[in-house]
Amino acid sequence: MKKQTFLTALFALVALSVSAAQPRVKNVIYLIGDGMGFGAVSSLLLSQNEKTGFEYAPVIGLSETCSADNFVTDSPAGGTALATGTRTRNGYLGVDPDGNQLNSILRKAQTMGKRTGIVVNTVLTEATPAAFYGGVKSRKESLRLAEQFVESGIDVAIGSGLSVFVGRPDSVDLTAELIHRGYDVYLDWGATARSMADRFVSILPMSDVHRRNKSSNKTAGAADGAEVCLAAQLAAESGEEPTSSDPTEYLTRAVEKALGTLERTADRNGFFLMIESAIIDGYGHNNDSEGMIEEMREFDRTLQMLVKYVESHPETLLVVTADHETGGTGVSYRSYEVGGEAPVTLSFSTKGHTGTVVPIFAYGAGAEEFGAIMKNTELPKIIERLINGKKKSKR
Ligand SMILES: [Zn+2]
Repeated sequence: MKKQTFLTALFALVALSVSAAQPRVKNVIYLIGDGMGFGAVSSLLLSQNEKTGFEYAPVIGLSETCSADNFVTDSPAGGTALATGTRTRNGYLGVDPDGNQLNSILRKAQTMGKRTGIVVNTVLTEATPAAFYGGVKSRKESLRLAEQFVESGIDVAIGSGLSVFVGRPDSVDLTAELIHRGYDVYLDWGATARSMADRFVSILPMSDVHRRNKSSNKTAGAADGAEVCLAAQLAAESGEEPTSSDPTEYLTRAVEKALGTLERTADRNGFFLMIESAIIDGYGHNNDSEGMIEEMREFDRTLQMLVKYVESHPETLLVVTADHETGGTGVSYRSYEVGGEAPVTLSFSTKGHTGTVVPIFAYGAGAEEFGAIMKNTELPKIIERLINGKKKSKR
């Protein structure tokens, strides 16, 4: 009897210690919807009968998106807060209000031995991804950001924006520099999809990464650098015909490709993958209701895939949020029959960003840490704490 009591106590102790154990956060996926406020999320929830990826989130929080000098942040300062945990002046990117270079969660993940990746449906030097590897006092310094990208040591990157890598005023071919550093560089989707390289950078034509991305009219398609850059010469020598991607499926496929590569090449330290769905913001700026709803459906396709990934990879943390709200977006007044349906339309109160709080959706290992109202700067700090295996600090 005595022995039985002892065993019962022992089992209870083991069960208690298992339930109290912090889940190990080995992999981090950080999905940022640029300008994705409550109006954008609402438009998806109300226009789609099937369960959205957001509804699978076990933990939901709120993020205050102010910059260091305004209630309303721009994308450089918003990205900087989410990447580095420091608020900076609007216009500054990856540097503090005094212009000092900040250390991003992606760089910290690298020093912890994690493989790293970036996937965007815009240019690779756009403010949000650049906040994870760069540091400039103006987002317009895209030539400098391209150099910082090359120096970043990021293992896998898929996006657009060849014109800052080749045909530069300094005549430097940054695709040659990437190849010299051991990367495969691809200028078309087919080569990206076929890749078995451990480290690669895909710089695709803008028409491949988004059906209506007009975020940079200076951005050339791949063909524009074809005669001059080493990546294009190597592609021509391979004899493979370049293949374009279906832009409406690009983000999901590119994220799958990056995930597969990072998972295949990561050791026990895992990986850190940053993804930006960039054009929700553009539809907010243009006050385009239809465009924003369509964009949110595309966002959801990527999110659903990631939710499944996290379910089958329990040491993975997925954090989904926005850098700020755009458009002052709300769901418009519209009556319909009881029990009936009507198409959702959005109304807008500004052509710019707003300082409205944005949602955080967290899934997988460590997700419960994000169930709170917090400043945008808290997110990378929590991620860092979780990948260091540290327990929750007392609030
Ligand atoms: Zn914007």
